Formats: sequence, structure tokens, C-alpha cells
Amino acid sequence: MHYHYVIAGAGLSGLTIAERIASELNEKVLVVEKRSHIGGNVYDSYNEEGILIHNYGPHIFHTNDEGVYRYLSRFTKWNDFWHRVLSYVDGNLVPMPVSVETINRLYNLSLSCGEIEAFLSSRAIPMDEVKTSRDVALSKVGTDLYEKLFMNYTRKQWGVDPSELDTSVISRIPVRTNRDTRYFADRYQGMPKYGYTRMCENMIANPNIKLMLNTDFEEIRDEITYDYLIYTGPTDAYYHYKYGKMAYRSLNFVFETYDMESYQEAPVVNYPNDYDFTRITEFKKLTWQDHKKTTILKEYPCAEGEPYYPFPTKEYQEQFLKYREEMEKETNVYFLGRLAQYRYFNMDAVVRQALDLFEQKIRPANGKEG
Ligand SMILES: Cc1cc2nc3c(=O)[nH]c(=O)nc-3n(C[C@H](O)[C@H](O)[C@H](O)COP(=O)(O)OP(=O)(O)OC[C@H]3O[C@@H](n4cnc5c(N)ncnc54)[C@H](O)[C@@H]3O)c2cc1C
Repeated sequence: MHYHYVIAGAGLSGLTIAERIASELNEKVLVVEKRSHIGGNVYDSYNEEGILIHNYGPHIFHTNDEGVYRYLSRFTKWNDFWHRVLSYVDGNLVPMPVSVETINRLYNLSLSCGEIEAFLSSRAIPMDEVKTSRDVALSKVGTDLYEKLFMNYTRKQWGVDPSELDTSVISRIPVRTNRDTRYFADRYQGMPKYGYTRMCENMIANPNIKLMLNTDFEEIRDEITYDYLIYTGPTDAYYHYKYGKMAYRSLNFVFETYDMESYQEAPVVNYPNDYDFTRITEFKKLTWQDHKKTTILKEYPCAEGEPYYPFPTKEYQEQFLKYREEMEKETNVYFLGRLAQYRYFNMDAVVRQALDLFEQKIRPANGKEG
């Protein structure tokens, strides 16, 4: 069987590119997905109690990219949502990321914004070169806050010390000297009003798109031919692990439902220093669903299982470079998304990449003007 466009993976990156090709070029697209559903890790569903849960962990849409926000807004309305995270430290619940409130609550102080700057700079450890995630934290907040808030959380999440991880891991978490206790400061933040799965369904509600669920691309690889393949799965699998298996950090998700209206004070509570799980999410506080019961999720990081987070160490980045060389030689295969590029990306970043790939490569190759 011959297809003009084949897409491996029905996550947000695969669906965005499928939508663009099907609706802008009016071309037929085959989307192959090994799971039993679309959406990849943004998939959400109603559990047996009728509570909307995020099956692969809490997903909060946030971006400063107006183009991405406008694009996704074609497929969903949004609930206005400003994410808040608390961290359980020394018996207190303190706001994350670090802000005036965090420090005042942790040390029982009442410092002003200006005083916090002086507080942090008196503790921050100056460094000539910031090389690891540990350096990032120590150079911003000093030893005590690093140990209370970052060190054990990162060890649990990654199974290694922050000194072994590149700067990207802790750099993602800002340190603020103001009273802003929102988790993200982006201009656009929200939750798809009817859930991510509904948004994804709307994206591919186009007769040009043929969807094949429960099918690993490998199963049909030799059965089909195509002009272009857009591959969003793990690159090492695509090349049959010729340079070895790439490492990923995985998560064991444990859902619990309680006969109570509310379980905790915030949508997400981090537990850096206690328990084996890293955080608890209470879904109703993300989705605003009205329900007499509530479902929570505990996340237990682990080494084996579904690949969620590419491992941000020098060793694996170097291993991935060998695959990258192969990828660059391909003439009709595009690698898209977080698995294929072996990098952590937020939702807005993978949508942006898919939109750019379409405009810069796929549309011009098809010969149709934008
Ligand atoms: C726990 C967690 C929390 C997150 N929270 C946020 C958040 O709050 N905000 C945010 O912006 N981002 C968040 N993200 C990131 C977000 O999930 C990703 O940016 C996004 O899902 C990436 O989309 P993707 O299409 O690249 O990958 P994926 O969602 O992984 O989709 C890839 C798809 O390809 C399929 N596939 C793989 N190999 C094959 C194959 N051989 N054949 C067929 N199908 C295949 C997979 O089954 C999967 O469905 C979070 C991620 C995790 C893990």
C-alpha cells in the first residue's frame, strides 16, 4: 500500500502535522499509533467515578507563543486557569517556585520584595561556571533552600544527584523576588474546556486523516511505502537501537479516589523530602469539575516503563548525537516531538515545531503556496 504522508505517533506533535497536511494541503494522511488512543501523553479520560483525569500526569497548557495559542484555540475553548503548586517542607506548605511568600513561610519572616533580593544574594554561591543542575540551584538560592526544595525532589525524579544532570532540569524552575505565586508566568495559560482528548479529536476530525490505533509503526513498516514519513516515536527504536538504547525516566502513576469534595489545598503539592512519590495532583482543581468525590494522582519515578523524560546527562546527549547524524541524512523522513528529538519539550513547543515543519518543509515540497 502506498501513502503520500505517513505519521508515526498520534501525540500532539503528530496530530498537529496531520491536521495541517489534511486541511491545508487537502492530502490524505495515515496516522499510526501504538496506544489504544490519540493524544499521546496529553490524553485525558473520565474514570469509573466520572472524574476527568489526566492519564499520563497533570498537563497545564501555558505559552507566550501567540501563534500556538491561536492555532489550538481553533479546536478548543479554554478554562481560565492559573496553575499553583505548593511544596511540603518542614511541616509547611510553601508556594513553588520560590517567591517572597516561600521564603517568608519557610523561615517565619516577613521580608519585602527588596529584602528578599538581599536575602537570596547573601546565600547564593557565586560560581565562575554553572555546569550542572546543582550549580544552577546553589548559584541562585544557596545551600539551605537547595537542600530543602530542590535536592531530594530532583534525586527522586531522576534517580541521580542534581550534580549529574545538565543545567536544563533546574533552570526550568524560576526563582522570583516578587509575590507572584503562579507556577507559570506565561501570557496564555489554560485548560481545554472539554479536555485535551476532545481538543485532539477536533484536530483530526477530517476525512483525509486515516487513524490506525493499536499499531506500532514497526508492524507495518515493511508493508507500506510512502513519499514522506513524519516520525514522532523514539529515534533509537526507528534505527533498531544500532547505537544502543537511549535512557528515559519513567513514572508509575497511582490514582486514588476519595469520598470527599476536596483533598488538598492546591492542584499540585510537591513532596521533595517525604515519601517515595514526588507529587500529588488533585484533578478537580485543574479542571474545575463539580463532583462529590475527588481523584488524586501520586507519581512514583522509576527507571523502567513508558519513556517519559529523556535523560539530561552529557553521556546520553553524546549517544544521541550519533542518531542525530543518521537523522540528518534522511531525505523523506522528518523527526518531530520529544521522543524523536530526545529532549523535554512542553506542549506549546511541540506544536510550534510541527507548525514550523509544515510551513518550512512540507508545504514548499508539496508545491502549494501558503
Ligand atoms: C508527567 C508529564 C507531565 C507533563 N506536563 C506538562 C505540562 O504541564 N505542560 C506542558 O506544556 N507539557 C507537559 N508535558 C509535556 C507534554 O506531555 C509533551 O510536550 C507532549 O505530550 C509531547 O507530544 P509528542 O507528540 O512529542 O509526544 P507524545 O505525547 O509522547 O506522543 C508520541 C506518540 O507516539 C506514539 N508512538 C511512539 N512510538 C511509536 C511507534 N513506533 N509506532 C506508533 N506510535 C508510536 C506514542 O504511543 C505516543 O502516543 C508533560 C509530560 C509528562 C511526561
